[in-house]
Amino acid sequence: MNVPVWNPALEFMERDALERLQLAALRKTLVWALKTPFYQRRLADAGLKHPEDIASLRDLRNIPYTTKDDLRGAYPHGLLAVELERTVRLHTSSGTTGMPTVIYHTRQDLDHWTELVARCIVATGATARDVFQNMTSYGLFTGGLGLHYGAERVGMLVIPASSGNTSRQLQLMKNFRTTVVHATPSYLLHLHASLAGEGVTPDQLGLRKAFIGAEPHSEQTRRKIEDLFDIDAYNSYGLSEMNGPGVAFECVHKTGLHCWEDAYILEIVDPRTLQPLPEGETGEIVMTTLQRQATPLLRYRTRDLSHLVGGNCPCGRTHRRLARIKGRSDDMLIVNGVNIFPSQIEDMLMRIPEVGTNYLIQLEKRGSLDRLLVKTELNARLFTGDPRALDDLRDRIGELLRSAILVKPTVELHEPGSLPVSEGKARRVVDLRPAF
Ligand code: ADP
Ligand code: ZN
Repeated sequence: MNVPVWNPALEFMERDALERLQLAALRKTLVWALKTPFYQRRLADAGLKHPEDIASLRDLRNIPYTTKDDLRGAYPHGLLAVELERTVRLHTSSGTTGMPTVIYHTRQDLDHWTELVARCIVATGATARDVFQNMTSYGLFTGGLGLHYGAERVGMLVIPASSGNTSRQLQLMKNFRTTVVHATPSYLLHLHASLAGEGVTPDQLGLRKAFIGAEPHSEQTRRKIEDLFDIDAYNSYGLSEMNGPGVAFECVHKTGLHCWEDAYILEIVDPRTLQPLPEGETGEIVMTTLQRQATPLLRYRTRDLSHLVGGNCPCGRTHRRLARIKGRSDDMLIVNGVNIFPSQIEDMLMRIPEVGTNYLIQLEKRGSLDRLLVKTELNARLFTGDPRALDDLRDRIGELLRSAILVKPTVELHEPGSLPVSEGKARRVVDLRPAF
């Protein structure tokens, strides 16, 4: 078998051995968790005082969930399981949905995280011969430093470009012959839209691969990125509460995102009943850290929605795969009573060749009714400027969206490059409806 792999012993481990490892690591994690004031109380309430109270992985169900609000409530030190002097770094979430959460790391935690990221990078076929330009922000956000250390461990030449400054990104790519980049999908689309203005053609770049993540995106968006740059793009899923990038990543086969189950226990639960769901059913991702000393988290409710992919991946890795993230449970929009995920709108928009690379969803109140407005940029190459053609296009987009989401939105067409671009995670939804 000729599969690029970083840690074959762990990545190809038989399921029963992997589950034995998980049980031992879960008990160890319980010991760490019981050192935090937060878990002492929470676990005592659930009748769990000793690691031996967990006899098998099935007993995981007796452990209470941990929520984002719990993390916010324990801010800043309530979930710290080691003495402060043993910690060497902290990261916070981006705060997309409110106050950020904090995660501490010991030196061993960082080393372990780096190993997980190295596995992900190698699984995509990237090697020490690649030149890696990291276009995500360096700082509290985990995408910068997380990928950085993993790529160095693999032995790639790393360009720590950080986010933004598109003309400098393109200069660096040209001068150093960057072969692999890491960016949000929305930024890569923006970068492509900027090529002409910067006098650069895609073939002047030696780009081979992109790691895209940090924000929800559809399969159509991935394909668009792959076609525009003529590269392979791999989905990267992570969250600061579970370290950051390195949680789950696509391998060369792109059949779902392998989640490293020696490092995390993965569950999918129904967000309403909180009952675990079988393979194939969509629900909320719940994760337990198995190796993290400084901030162990038990059954953390990520609020991200996905399902487990059945069957085996041709690469031979035994770690289960998550399907592309559908969005966050709190992303769902209710428009005149109809439930809509922004990802459904994106998926349809990216299938329409005349649509450009950026879009925005706006919600307004008109009397007692909701109005859904979809603003989308045009593809410069296919735009003729004929007003009748624009009217037809607006109608066609509206009808196509209605077939996908059951609500006909008002469509606004915008010139290429005219909608706001974010350097970090894209903000796709603006809800102007008054809160009750
Ligand atoms: P915040 O939760 O404040 O955005 P993070 O920086 O920790 O903070 O971001 C993690 C979140 O980003 C995840 O919980 C998920 O919602 C989103 N995310 C990360 N990677 C992906 C991905 N590949 N696809 C979809 N969403 C993603
Ligand atoms: Zn695979």
